[in-house]
Amino acid sequence: MTKTRSLCFLILAAALFFSSAALAHVEIDVPAAVDVGAPFFLKVRSTQDFSGLHLRWLDRQVRVPAIEGEALILLGAPLDIVPGMHRIVGELEILDRRIAFVKEVDVRPRSFPEQRLRVARKMVTPDPSLMPHIEEERRQVRAALERISEQRHWGKPFTRPVAGSVSSPFGLRRFFNDEPRAPHRGVDLRGAEGTSVLAFSAGEVILTGEHYFAGKSVYIDHGLGLVTQYIHLSEINVTYGQMVSAGQVIGKIGATGRVTGPHLHFGLSVLGMWVDPLPLMD
Ligand SMILES: [Zn+2]
Repeated sequence: MTKTRSLCFLILAAALFFSSAALAHVEIDVPAAVDVGAPFFLKVRSTQDFSGLHLRWLDRQVRVPAIEGEALILLGAPLDIVPGMHRIVGELEILDRRIAFVKEVDVRPRSFPEQRLRVARKMVTPDPSLMPHIEEERRQVRAALERISEQRHWGKPFTRPVAGSVSSPFGLRRFFNDEPRAPHRGVDLRGAEGTSVLAFSAGEVILTGEHYFAGKSVYIDHGLGLVTQYIHLSEINVTYGQMVSAGQVIGKIGATGRVTGPHLHFGLSVLGMWVDPLPLMD
């Protein structure tokens, strides 16, 4: 019994020794703490033959390919995350080995401001006959946001879709006609009707349409689970399946859907979870 135990211990010690020896050539860069709602990068570098890594974050899984010894991914802490320690569990593909690692990220609570609006009743409570149509739009948007393409199209620096300042921040706790609604899942940027809206980064247009609440909408898949949303447009200048470059005009600012005036609502989703795009823009 004792012999088996010490043998097990030896194997474990050897495994630990080999993984830490291999990990000596690996740099894993991730913030120790982030706020609720914040996006953050995880960067892994290795001088050895590093082909990529597998990650698990908040029950989502993704493989990040390494390019010239570096793997980079954007992650985030969504609004409904429980503050506290959360684990990023990963496995590096180095030479022909798999090396496991765990990184802890401390998610700090953040309080978001409140906003009360008066809006037309039909926009708060749509006609029941429209519900199947609205549900179908939601299903399409959900599917777009949950896409995790294997290739990274995005790159830094990112493009601010319009130059205008923020009129409504991410995370705002909203009440329409005193009824609590979902928190604000993007940022509203100021701009006159007809102002050009630019792609945040390179990617593929995976959904366009005129939706009941969102009005004219564009969704772009930038790869590795990063999807951006541009809504309430007056005009859409791209088509489904089109590849766009960073800063390309994709539409014009408008006031379509459930809005009180022209602006761009810009949303950023990471592995299917909305996060605040503002920290990524100038
Ligand atoms: Zn908005």
